[in-house]
Amino acid sequence: VAGYYRRDNSNVHRGVHTLSERATAAYEGARERVRSFLNAREAREVVFVRGTTEAINLVAGSFGRGRIKEGDEIVISTLEHHSNIVPWQMLCEQTGARLKVAAIDDDGDLVLDDFERLIGPRTRMVSVVYVSNALGTVNPVARVIELAHARGAAVMLDAAQAAAHLTIDVQALGCDFLAFSGHKLYGPTGIGVLWGRGELLEEMEPWQGGGEMIRSVSFERTTYNSIPARFEAGTPNVAGAVGLGAAIDYLCGFDRAAIEAHERELLAYCDRRLGEVTGLRVVGRPKEKLGAHSFVIDGIHPHDIGTVLDHSGVAVRTGHHCTQPLMHRLGLDATARASFALYNTRDDVDRLIDGLGEVLEVLGP
Ligand code: PLP
Repeated sequence: VAGYYRRDNSNVHRGVHTLSERATAAYEGARERVRSFLNAREAREVVFVRGTTEAINLVAGSFGRGRIKEGDEIVISTLEHHSNIVPWQMLCEQTGARLKVAAIDDDGDLVLDDFERLIGPRTRMVSVVYVSNALGTVNPVARVIELAHARGAAVMLDAAQAAAHLTIDVQALGCDFLAFSGHKLYGPTGIGVLWGRGELLEEMEPWQGGGEMIRSVSFERTTYNSIPARFEAGTPNVAGAVGLGAAIDYLCGFDRAAIEAHERELLAYCDRRLGEVTGLRVVGRPKEKLGAHSFVIDGIHPHDIGTVLDHSGVAVRTGHHCTQPLMHRLGLDATARASFALYNTRDDVDRLIDGLGEVLEVLGP
């Protein structure tokens, strides 16, 4: 990001001058990196957006408003982040479509039978999280996609958490849309990606109007640009895209399978050590888990756990994790969550456990 602003800063796709050409090359170079990162067929299937939230709003606003009518159905799951709930609710309010929510069990796993039952002939869209931010559940997305496609519904995957922890191959997955955010991938904030199958994006109406997304404008009639520009109205976050490209280079400079193995090992080690803490309960025991352990401690509010841990230099996220309906399903208001990235070590886990000892000393019974 700093290098871009120092050397190449300019608007893209407009000027013929050197800086604009360099900025355009850097921006489109980042798009190609994302294509390769997702193993997408073509770079034009990659739309730069603000983040996962904006990507889902784009699909709800464009694909949704174009194709989803009164009486149609949209299926999500109980595990969803608010950003994969609210845009669909808004679409339902606008169109008269119905939102259906697949259940989870007490371990935090999607109940596949229930999910299968919910998908009917009126289901137009299935949108589910790949890896849950609140519980770490890895959803069986291959099966979800198979079931949805068998009934003719499109599938959107919220890969906000998955992108940093798993190798994503959109062609192997066979989904229709996928979203992730730069800042969960060691990149900058304010940048993210909507990937969509080319033939679907081609058919979709623009979402926002303005510069860049047009082919020609007159007061009588405007024609629209081809994808991805059609969905990138206005000056894009060029520096963010360049930074995201750099983050992808950084991440892909490691052996991704080794990162996954390292994070799984840390998660298992953390699970064992959390078991030593009196009154602590890990929330969510899904069959497959990545990235995080959510937990509660009898009689101590998660915010207080977070505050005392912070004094020990340990950062945990506390609250409802933007998953209020999930918290409600679990009978909780909030949890504390320890998350793991490629740079974490067993030593970090040990410090978390020492910090939790402190929490019990200060706030325990
Ligand atoms: N989905 C999941 C699973 C997330 O964890 C998040 C962010 O926490 C989002 C969606 C929303 O991402 P953003 O705020 O970057 O748009």
